[in-house]
Amino acid sequence: MSEGKKKFNVSVIAGDGIGPEVIAEARKVAEAAASTEGASFEWVEYPFGAAHYLKTNEILPESALDIGIDFDSLTDAGSMMGSGGMIVMDDRTCMVDVARYFVDFLVGESCGKCVPCREGMKKMSRILHDISEGRGQPGDVETLTEMAGAMADTALCGLGQSAPNPVLSTIEYFREEYVEHIDEKFCRSGVCQGLFAVRIDDACIGCGVCGKSCPASAIHGVAKKKFEADAATCIGCGACIQICPVGAISPIRRTKA
Ligand code: SF4
Ligand code: SF4
Repeated sequence: MSEGKKKFNVSVIAGDGIGPEVIAEARKVAEAAASTEGASFEWVEYPFGAAHYLKTNEILPESALDIGIDFDSLTDAGSMMGSGGMIVMDDRTCMVDVARYFVDFLVGESCGKCVPCREGMKKMSRILHDISEGRGQPGDVETLTEMAGAMADTALCGLGQSAPNPVLSTIEYFREEYVEHIDEKFCRSGVCQGLFAVRIDDACIGCGVCGKSCPASAIHGVAKKKFEADAATCIGCGACIQICPVGAISPIRRTKA
């Protein structure tokens, strides 16, 4: 935290695969950091869609979990304190989708005065939509990296210069997710629709709510016994993953027809 700053805000994505234990842990970390800095502490939870007011920034991987939450530590780690906000994401968050989300938001924020930001952001958005909708092509990651570098170097203001950060940092730390989307048409987080099928594991308690939520009638079973998902019928909508009360449903690669 920069000297003189007295307020500490942390934002956590809620309702996107984030369980109460992740939120509680994030709150503990933030509270301790605020206490160390002698700052006031305020806890507010927003749904993902409401978190876009945050300054677009670099996304850090799990290995950075223990770094200090202060101006210098975050800068050293390649990110920044920004407005003091933080978003915590779990392994059910697709990093390609996160990059797409931020870029889509910034397309609307660009004032349009300079070409790198105005056109670069639109082009990036198209590529990220293609990747997350199963139309990714070999070379897309390299194109995104090249465009991001050009935007950072040539955009007129801080918005355009920092806009590629989510793209560059997700490519740096989660490149394998981009490769899976492009080469295998697979979203390991079960977020990008149509890019996964599902399987049900032994944690299933046979409640049956997944079967009722499946638009493809791909889930069958008998109450109080383990249910089964037919991967060949599954259309990869993710509804069952979201609704299962015990987290028994996981994304798997689609089998080729
Ligand atoms: S929602 Fe989860 S626990 Fe309930 S039947 Fe489906 S897989 Fe099993
Ligand atoms: S992901 Fe969608 S289509 Fe596939 S089994 Fe679950 S609810 Fe059905």
